This record gives sequence, structure tokens and C-alpha cells, in this order.
Amino acid sequence: MAAYLLKPVRHAELRRAIGRVLRGEDLPGGGALMTRGLLQEQSEERLGMHILLAEDNAVNRKLAIRLLEKRGHRVSVATNGREALDQLEGAEFDLVLMDVQMPEMDGLEATRRLREREDRSGHGTGQRQAVVAMTALVMKGDRERCIAAGMDGYLSKPIRPQELDEILDRYAGAESSASDTAKAEAAGTSCVRTEELLERIGGDRGFLTELLELFRADYPGQLQRAREAAARNDAATVQRVAHSMKGALRNLAAPAASRLAEEIEAMGERGDVSGAGRRLDDLEREVVRVVAMLQELCLVSAN
Ligand code: MN
Repeated sequence: MAAYLLKPVRHAELRRAIGRVLRGEDLPGGGALMTRGLLQEQSEERLGMHILLAEDNAVNRKLAIRLLEKRGHRVSVATNGREALDQLEGAEFDLVLMDVQMPEMDGLEATRRLREREDRSGHGTGQRQAVVAMTALVMKGDRERCIAAGMDGYLSKPIRPQELDEILDRYAGAESSASDTAKAEAAGTSCVRTEELLERIGGDRGFLTELLELFRADYPGQLQRAREAAARNDAATVQRVAHSMKGALRNLAAPAASRLAEEIEAMGERGDVSGAGRRLDDLEREVVRVVAMLQELCLVSAN
């Protein structure tokens, strides 16, 4: 095989993999490997973004710059909200990572002013600057405050590389930076990463309706099979069914549900499914939320 991809397949990775294979380029790892980790190491291959990093703390700044540059992105720096606004006056960035707590002008105020400026200049849809909050605050309501200030997403500090990658993937090569779904999703209450899902299916909501129908027809039976298997201590079947559900839920960009399925799969792998019944209840509840959310997404498109 000339290359392989990790599922769920991301657009950017598929594009890169095809490009490499067509160019006959040597691939790392003996010529056949195309893992997410390796792709990230090859920073020159990544779609480099121009990112504005607004962060007052020198240590946090240095760490963030390192993470971003390692991934092949160009970074401009501001040390408070006012500086960030000045930089945003002259240039458009692919993404702004905005610390919330900064001296002189905090990230919330800077974002509010940025949005006011965008409104005044009559920016159309899709012209909105993407702004993602960075904050160590963990109080209930913080995410809501960020969203209310006009931010599109939320990254908790200290920054975890995996979370950063999820944010970067969302904005890499994105034509429009923000949408209502991104806002709902950024509020952290969403059980489906709608932006990621819509990207995967090329924004085709009719197709999403079909996917949803397939999933709705499938999952009750799968849950049932897993439950029965758990009851008769059939770990192999629990593992197989949970694995299948995990795959579907990942494709539907449902992180919490797919993690639950993964946990159940791991129980099956370990051969101890004594706790699987309770986990399956959790999974069912989460899946019901996922289905409701996807239904809503389908309905939105009908308008
Ligand atoms: Mn700060």
C-alpha cells in the first residue's frame, strides 16, 4: 500500500496523502506510513496558517509559539488585547488565539470590539475573523461568556496538544471561519462537533439525513446485542459491537459517545465486561443526545 489514513478521514490529510502518492514521494516509516503523528512532524507539508497569538504571560506565549511553529504555522504576537486589535486592523489572520485575562484590555473586550468593527465595516457572512479563547478559568459560565463576547471557540490552558490540533484542524483550509453551528459547538455543550461533521460530508445536509437514518436504524440493535453479550459474559462480541459503534460515532463527530464506545470496547478486549451494562446505559443516553442533535442539524438545513 502506498499510504494509509486514519479514520475518520480528514480532508486535509486525504489531500496530502493523494498528493504524495501521485508525486511518488518517499513516505516516512519505510514508505507506507501516513499517520497523524508523522504528518504533524512534517511541518512543511502542513497547510501553514498565519495565527495571531494574544497572550500576556511570557511562558505561556513561548510554549504556544513552539506548539504552533512545530506544526508549521506562522505566528504573530500581541501581549494584550489592545495590541491584538491593532494587529487585526492591518491584517487578516487565519486564526486568532486570544488569552482571556490580559492587562490593559482583556480578550473578551478585544473580541467584542473586533466584532463591533466587523459589523460597522459591513462584513458579510464568512468574513468573520476566527477567534478562539484561551483560558485557565474553569468556572461554570466561562465558555458562555467567551461566546457572548463573540469568540468562536474555546481552548483550556494549559494547552493540550490534542485539543490544539482539533482547533487547528477546524480552521486549516476553512473557507469561512465561523458559523452558528461553530458557536453552539464552541459553547462546549454540544455532543456533536457539527463543523467537523459538515466538513467531512462536504456540507451536504441531504447526505447527513441519509447517514442519520442509517445510524438510527442500526444503533438500537447494536446496543441490544452488546447488552445481551455482556449479560452472558461474551467479551469478544461486546468488543466487536462496541468497536463498530465507535467507528460510526467517530464518523458522526460525536466525541463523548465515541469515547464511551471505546471504553466498552476496551472492557471487551480485557475480557472483563462486568461493568459494561452500566456503560452501555451511559452510551445509550449519549447516543440519544447525538441523534437529537443531528436531527436538529438536518432540520436547520430544510429552512
Ligand atoms: Mn493572561
